[in-house]
Amino acid sequence: MKVILDQDKCVGSGQCVLVAPEVFDQRDEDGIAVLLDPDPPAGRHAETREAARLCPALAIELADS
Ligand code: SF4
Repeated sequence: MKVILDQDKCVGSGQCVLVAPEVFDQRDEDGIAVLLDPDPPAGRHAETREAARLCPALAIELADS
């Protein structure tokens, strides 16, 4: 799985960090998400998909690889 995060779309809601804290973090200064792991292991795919589904800004794109 490849994760693509569009920081220009991110509104800093933090949903992704709540459900997938190993994959996403938020910048301290403005709350914009940062990608910690662009190629998460199989054990984190479910939570990563959930993060993409929950993101209110549709800022998280997933590609199967
Ligand atoms: S859920 Fe979406 S809008 Fe919210 S912090 Fe994560 S990437 Fe940004």
